[in-house]
Amino acid sequence: MAAHNDVEAFHQALRSSRRILALCGAGLSASSGLPTFRGAGGYWRNYDATSLATVRAFRTDPGMVWLFYAYRRHLALKAEPNPGHRALAALARRNLDFMCLTQNVDNLSPRAQHPSSQLKCLHGSLYDIKCSNESCDWIQRGNFDDPFCAALAPASVDMPNGEPLPLLDPYHRVKHITEDELPKCPKCHRGLQRPGVVWFGEDLDSAMMMDISAWMNAEPLDLMFVIGTSAQVYPAAGYIDKARKRGARIVTINPEAEDEAEMFKVNPGDFAFGKDAAEYLPLLLEPIIGKPNADGEFEMS
Ligand code: NAD
Ligand code: ZN
Repeated sequence: MAAHNDVEAFHQALRSSRRILALCGAGLSASSGLPTFRGAGGYWRNYDATSLATVRAFRTDPGMVWLFYAYRRHLALKAEPNPGHRALAALARRNLDFMCLTQNVDNLSPRAQHPSSQLKCLHGSLYDIKCSNESCDWIQRGNFDDPFCAALAPASVDMPNGEPLPLLDPYHRVKHITEDELPKCPKCHRGLQRPGVVWFGEDLDSAMMMDISAWMNAEPLDLMFVIGTSAQVYPAAGYIDKARKRGARIVTINPEAEDEAEMFKVNPGDFAFGKDAAEYLPLLLEPIIGKPNADGEFEMS
């Protein structure tokens, strides 16, 4: 049996794989300069980032939660898709039996021309806006306003010479943003507009979940990529075991993947590459997508 990080052996497995699934997480966008939630960068001001991504936090202080999301919207708008996003998009164009599930809300995979029929954004998008009134179905897709509204302008400031943004300094007081300063839903006129992302404790879109189940159950799977995710958020992480049960060999790409504490997850026949996804995905997928051209783009078909 080849070593878990043998690229040649992986290429062989890839060449004989048809039905391929991927589960991506924040680590895929790390090289584009977007911080992950866990590990370094998991804090925003003095808040644990995961504690701001909740309905409860929004009910308590919608202005603060909106500042956090307004900042992430601004950052992701300025960021560029990296070679990892582009390599996955190229794989999707080459292989119609490849399905990509991403937990990322940064819109970088769509911007890398990943075909939308082969991309499921499990946790929504920073650029979709919903109504916070649970009985209202208003949704606006593709809102790229930056700043999102006047009160959130401090989150969209670009500092000269890479100086730190005052907003990110927990000792810098930010003016409290009241509900009146945030836009209301144009449909029910009751709820506040909120980011169209799935917060901790909320359900994923049921139609999307059904589509994914139907795709997974249609035929056995050959391979599943687990890319840049700590696989701690459910139901997303549950797709790894489901894919395994459907016959998939698991290939993990994450700087921590080969750490001793992680190796118990690597079954015989699986692969684990303790690498940056942006650097390694193009290399791993090369037998199918070829090499990028001078502009870093892969051939379109
Ligand atoms: P996570 O922060 O829990 O884990 C990130 C993982 O990426 C870690 O295991 C880390 O080792 C790995 N990683 C770091 N740098 C990497 C690199 N260069 N290449 C490959 N892997 C790398 O993120 P998660 O598992 O996605 O779960 C967090 C939740 O937060 C999700 O629900 C997601 O929606 C949300 N989130 C999204 C973004 C985004 O859209 N970019 C950013 C932060 C958090
Ligand atoms: Zn509404």
